[in-house]
Amino acid sequence: MAHSASNAQQAIITDGIQDILANNRQWVATKNAEDPEFFKRLATGQQPRYLFIGCSDSRVPASGITGTGPGEMFVHRNIANMVVHTDLNLLSVLQYAVEVLGVQDILVVGHYGCGGVAAAAANKQYGLIDNWLVNIRDVVRLHEAELLGVKDEPQRLRRLVELNVIEQVRNLAKTNIIQNAMRGDKPPRLHGLVYDIADGVLKDLQVDDSTALRGLAHIYGTEVKPLVAAPRVPEPPTTEEESSHYKGPQQDPSQVEAAAATA
Ligand SMILES: [Zn+2]
Repeated sequence: MAHSASNAQQAIITDGIQDILANNRQWVATKNAEDPEFFKRLATGQQPRYLFIGCSDSRVPASGITGTGPGEMFVHRNIANMVVHTDLNLLSVLQYAVEVLGVQDILVVGHYGCGGVAAAAANKQYGLIDNWLVNIRDVVRLHEAELLGVKDEPQRLRRLVELNVIEQVRNLAKTNIIQNAMRGDKPPRLHGLVYDIADGVLKDLQVDDSTALRGLAHIYGTEVKPLVAAPRVPEPPTTEEESSHYKGPQQDPSQVEAAAATA
């Protein structure tokens, strides 16, 4: 009996993959019919205008909600669209997008009804993920007074989603990757957006790069200053062998001559 159940499960899994492959062939045929050069062009390289940092939620597909196609958007997604400074994955994506691909606009996209944000607001343990959610709990701590002022709980969660996006844009602005890019020729613009699953509309929270660190640059600003090495003076020799190689501090021959003339 267990054997037949396992066969049934296998059939379901196979059907799922068959759907994916059939959809893919259909998509290839449609794209080729619309534009015979489409795949040839994409194969030559990418120069996307946008970097999208969004939630992994299946209802928030980066391309679908922004009307962008292949080649237009570099994408990083994680639970609750976080910019965490110890996340090598995010930092690698960010550095590559900014310094190699030269993206012009970086979008942090949160969404109402985010399970990660709701979990962070609940006084419960969920396991390993608690260590990720603590970054959202930090957002709650930073904005506790405002959040306590919102009495309606669904409204309070919606506001927390927005504040989380604002803080993640701020976290982008705190990175040396963005700060260096802002001093370059083509600084990227930072944007904070919220997507509403209930009606499909994206809203701009107007947190751009100029406001992201307003009033905080004296804390988070990092300026590149060239390291100036102190002039190196050789140590005097300590053994006879060393003394045969020791030349002492280099002297300007003209100064030596001047010293000899006044002696
Ligand atoms: Zn989410």
